[in-house]
Amino acid sequence: MQREQLEFDVLFVGAGPANLAGAIHLKKLAQQKGQEIEVAIIEKAASVGAHSLSGAVLDPRALRELMPDFREKGCPIEETDLRDAVFYLTAERQVRLPYVPPYMHNEGCFVISLSKFCAWLGTIAEELGVNVFPGFAGVEALYDESGRRVTGVRTGDKGVNKEGKRKSNFEPGVDLLAKVTVFGEGPKGSLIREVGKRLGLFDGQMPQVFETAVKEVIEIPAASRFLSSPYTVLHTFGYPLGLNTKGGGFLYRMKENRVSLGLVVGLDYEDAMLEPYQAFLRFKKHPLIADIIRGGKVLQQGAKTLAAGGWYTMPRLAVDGAVFVGDSASLLNVQRLKGIHTAMKSGMLAAEAILAALARGDGRAADLESYRARLDGSWIQSELYAARNFGQALSRRGLAKFVALGAQFVSGGRGLVDPMKIRDDAGSLTPGHLAPSAPVADLDGRLYVDKLTGVYLSGTQHEEDQPCHLLIPDPNLCVTRCWNTFRSPCTRFCPGQVYEMDTTEKGAPRLKLNPSNCLHCKTCEIKDPFKNIIWTCPEGGGGPGYSIV
Ligand SMILES: Cc1cc2nc3c(=O)[nH]c(=O)nc-3n(C[C@H](O)[C@H](O)[C@H](O)COP(=O)(O)OP(=O)(O)OC[C@H]3O[C@@H](n4cnc5c(N)ncnc54)[C@H](O)[C@@H]3O)c2cc1C
Repeated sequence: MQREQLEFDVLFVGAGPANLAGAIHLKKLAQQKGQEIEVAIIEKAASVGAHSLSGAVLDPRALRELMPDFREKGCPIEETDLRDAVFYLTAERQVRLPYVPPYMHNEGCFVISLSKFCAWLGTIAEELGVNVFPGFAGVEALYDESGRRVTGVRTGDKGVNKEGKRKSNFEPGVDLLAKVTVFGEGPKGSLIREVGKRLGLFDGQMPQVFETAVKEVIEIPAASRFLSSPYTVLHTFGYPLGLNTKGGGFLYRMKENRVSLGLVVGLDYEDAMLEPYQAFLRFKKHPLIADIIRGGKVLQQGAKTLAAGGWYTMPRLAVDGAVFVGDSASLLNVQRLKGIHTAMKSGMLAAEAILAALARGDGRAADLESYRARLDGSWIQSELYAARNFGQALSRRGLAKFVALGAQFVSGGRGLVDPMKIRDDAGSLTPGHLAPSAPVADLDGRLYVDKLTGVYLSGTQHEEDQPCHLLIPDPNLCVTRCWNTFRSPCTRFCPGQVYEMDTTEKGAPRLKLNPSNCLHCKTCEIKDPFKNIIWTCPEGGGGPGYSIV
């Protein structure tokens, strides 16, 4: 097939904070030097920001460096008065900790909506002359004849039906060629997975690990006491996950009587019956949270994973023709549950390295390596290195967790063993009891909603008649070993009810997929115990339609 080719100097794949900051910084630096540089950014969402979901307490450090006049430029900020409280929850009660660890202090940070923030950064990038292409999913990395140098990305074909045949509106994907391609696909990118395998990006590293979260923006009554409470940022641990499962809850105050509410669950959990969505509902029904949101209404819901491995899980950052930034490069600070500022800074450092590399040649790895050197000399290094064993310590069970956490805290990140081993998410499920607990009852469809209403509230839409983007290499395994050992955990860990097991007919159960419900969170590929789910990008423009989360 003849495909159109478009050439750029630099191509950014994914319009998250990492790449948007990178593209803006690159254009600004080039303009300061009087250099002409063609920059493009592609995003699989229908508009920039529509697949962006985060807590999101923004540490403005990178933003200030990128754009000191961000306020004058209309940066959408929800709340600037951040006062933290940490609660330990039991099923019925809460205890506020008298001490908030320094890394959980958020004074000087802002609450934002990541989807609004990214949409805003997208307009700034466009004003600077970046070619922003929403609705285009990168489906394949392109290489030169040696097969070792990345030369760009192919975007997905549009107008292909379920059987893989062309429809009347067929449009072939485009080959976007660039001297340097920047992969900023966020957690568990589908392109970095393939590039990583081919070029050994992850060789010798600890496995990347992730957490998943369900999050809502809720409008609460104007009379809610929380709006005048001394705390605007609540963090919780304990119930409903217990102390052996990594994760916790958050509630942040936003503008217009809104709160950002979410529960994060470490994907190294052991109990195959755990259902993060049900845990989220239980969290909402806890008296501490239920009191705050009573009388409210869910405005938007969504789900996403985050890269939680930290420093020791960082892949190689540069290869011939490409660099890796943000969550794709495991640059989130899991101790602070913050990755927006490190993602932005990594994009900016990559931009500086790329400009220097292009001045010397055409983007060879040897020239792009200065990105890693810049990162090692930056505040990203000091921040992430000080938390280098935090995720590992948190994933220990029982008393060992508190010993490990304490040790790494007093030793500035080193802990008892450095580096501490990390457990692979997919391999952590243990076969045990095979009956899930009763789902949360009394969902009112307004403040407490089921999964399908949640999918509706995420604005998710896909073209129905397209090939299934969730690849299951061995479907038989799902209805035999996986069903028998774990009772199909995909039906529980997926927040969008994409996976269903039909057990109504006699004989083996039948797996039914609803790919149109997919929230692009990637939990399924990460947590499937048999690594039997491969997430690929559906037709560009499909997926969630976040605007305020
Ligand atoms: C529930 C939750 C709470 C969080 N809370 C906070 C917080 O309070 N503070 C904080 O700082 N951080 C927080 N984080 C982390 C933060 O959101 C991430 O670290 C940050 O968004 C990473 O930025 P990124 O640009 O690397 O990736 P992302 O923000 O994930 O952006 C990647 C973009 O690339 C697009 N994309 C992916 N693959 C392709 C492809 N093949 N082709 C085209 N486009 C593609 C995606 O659609 C997406 O728009 C939280 C995360 C979650 C999930």
